[in-house]
Amino acid sequence: MIPQTFDYTAPATLDQALALIAQGAKPLAGGMSLIPMMKLRLAAPEHLVDIGRLKELNYIREDAGALHLGAGCTHYEVETSPLLRGKCPLLSETAAHIGDVQVRNMGTIGGSIAHADPSADYPAALQALEAKIVLRGAQSQRTVAASAFFLDTFATALEPGEIVSEIIVPVEEAGAGASYQKMAQPASGFAIVGVAARLRRSGGKIAMARIGVTGLAGRSFRATAAEKALENTAGSAAEIQAAAALVAQGVEANSDLHASAEYRKHLAAVYAGRALFAALARTA
Ligand SMILES: Cc1cc2nc3c(=O)[nH]c(=O)nc-3n(C[C@H](O)[C@H](O)[C@H](O)COP(=O)(O)OP(=O)(O)OC[C@H]3O[C@@H](n4cnc5c(N)ncnc54)[C@H](O)[C@@H]3O)c2cc1C
Repeated sequence: MIPQTFDYTAPATLDQALALIAQGAKPLAGGMSLIPMMKLRLAAPEHLVDIGRLKELNYIREDAGALHLGAGCTHYEVETSPLLRGKCPLLSETAAHIGDVQVRNMGTIGGSIAHADPSADYPAALQALEAKIVLRGAQSQRTVAASAFFLDTFATALEPGEIVSEIIVPVEEAGAGASYQKMAQPASGFAIVGVAARLRRSGGKIAMARIGVTGLAGRSFRATAAEKALENTAGSAAEIQAAAALVAQGVEANSDLHASAEYRKHLAAVYAGRALFAALARTA
């Protein structure tokens, strides 16, 4: 299909882009979600502002014990960054699960989280990492927790005129291990269910457990009951299975042609168990 006609601007600076977005223009990053939506006429923006080429949004650096990613980093850059692989391997591992190599070369982390597809992969990792999201407008900047950013299916805390400019994740502590496990929809690769787990062991016990879930419900979330059940245990197989069984408890699960709600809940427990066992094996 052919999209409705639109204007296109490729600004030289972020300030120029933000000024146009403040006037109602729509940001275009990798185009991997927006262009198909325009072709299907599910979106018909009159003016696209290409932020995918802005060098100001393309960086991965360490600062004061945290890792800062510009929203324009492609999934491939997140997957292959030596800094992230060394200091926040969960995010690189998650990026490697996204779509196919073409999608990973074009799509951006900012575009993915702004789009907020309930089956997208990053949200599970960002919830487990307790990431912070920096939102910028022409005259404003604010930072929100990932848990407050993802509001619902295709809905985020972004206000009109704002873009995601940066994602901040922690440098993983010594003794920590993490893993992302997903059941992929075979045609697209999107997560039918995806679970990211982070564990840290200290003195023979699990001192910290963080579990982020995507695909199961209308928005990603942290499975706090399962986290609490695991903390201060020795992390035996039985304790991990018991915690994994809590991940879907009380959740209003999505149901579609790929998986019923009941099957998704079953998958959530299975993939939570896999992610927790893999994370535990990676703790030092
Ligand atoms: C075949 C295929 C398979 C895929 N498989 C997966 C998968 O397995 N897992 C997965 O997670 N994703 C998957 N995706 C989606 C992919 O990850 C996209 O890259 C992502 O959803 C959108 O990123 P983008 O940079 O392409 O954004 P765009 O398509 O350019 O934009 C998407 C939306 O976000 C807005 N936007 C873009 N950047 C910003 C910003 N910085 N701030 C505010 N708003 C912004 C745009 O205005 C638009 O509304 C797949 C896509 C395709 C086409």
